[in-house]
Amino acid sequence: MSRYLLKSVEEMRSRLKGREISLFLDYDGTLTPVTGRPEDARISFQMKELVRVLAGSMPVAIVSGRGLADIEALVGIDGLAYAGNHGLEAASPDFTMTYDIGRAAREELDGLEPALTGLEEDFKGVIFENKGSSYTVHYRLLGSRHFHAFKEAFDRITAPALSRGLVRLALSKRAFEIRANVDWNKGRAVLWMLDRNRFRGTMPVFIGDDETDKDAYRALGPGGVSVHVGSEAEEAAFHLVAQDEVKVFLKLLLDARGAAC
Ligand SMILES: [Mg+2]
Repeated sequence: MSRYLLKSVEEMRSRLKGREISLFLDYDGTLTPVTGRPEDARISFQMKELVRVLAGSMPVAIVSGRGLADIEALVGIDGLAYAGNHGLEAASPDFTMTYDIGRAAREELDGLEPALTGLEEDFKGVIFENKGSSYTVHYRLLGSRHFHAFKEAFDRITAPALSRGLVRLALSKRAFEIRANVDWNKGRAVLWMLDRNRFRGTMPVFIGDDETDKDAYRALGPGGVSVHVGSEAEEAAFHLVAQDEVKVFLKLLLDARGAAC
């Protein structure tokens, strides 16, 4: 079980001591507070500057469930590595990668789009997001008394495709995701990036807040440092209680980095 990071600073320091560090950051709920509408999740000026400064002394990747172009635009810092769609696509100044989900899964996703888009009309507050290689149906803004009917409609639409097994359902924070059923996730993407020149040989620090981030904690294991935001997590080494503590930790990392130089 994870330990509270801000009470384990010395332990964290000793784990990172003498190592080249790389930083992998989730976006929503990690660099930003979770908001009602996904398009309102903006990184604060302060956080953005902190990430920018950190990127001057260590390789940094943003690893998000959002589409790649979306996450690049939202963070807006040149020179970083970005992975979108839970790692299905990645880009940096020195690499690009698109995981091929296959034609059959592509067709299955295409077939679901009209009906999932229709949920927006049937249920006020539901937002359908087409991320290219995956879909997210957000229900954060749906009145709770409508959830049951919404869930029934969602299940009715997706059940046939899910039973065929080419796509699968993933749960996110008040959102359902339909993704190609492939053996690729944030963890695999982080390992892939760690094998590029930019990240090779570094000790990865991964900060996330969601179920899908746990794939990365598991993939890194004791070879990295995983930090889960919001609660204890079995898969992570450390946790932070609140999103605004991420900034505190990043400043510690920066200080530690400064002290080591
Ligand atoms: Mg998140």
